[in-house]
Amino acid sequence: MKLEPAALKQMVRVVLSTRPDEIGCDECMDQLERFVELTLAGKNAAEAMPLVHDHLERCRDCREEFEALLKVLRALA
Ligand SMILES: [Zn+2]
Repeated sequence: MKLEPAALKQMVRVVLSTRPDEIGCDECMDQLERFVELTLAGKNAAEAMPLVHDHLERCRDCREEFEALLKVLRALA
């Protein structure tokens, strides 16, 4: 497959537009408990921790982890 200059330019743009402050699963997991605590406290967790929220929107694994944790802590509360 030969790369057209336009396609190449498009690829570069996609790479550059990837947010440098995006977090990965490890970091998300590290902060997940705090995120859940904020949620349970009725605070706007998405606003307080936008990067975690952002990751949860895109990552199914972390989303499931979040929901499981939320369920457990709610049961304990
Ligand atoms: Zn993840």
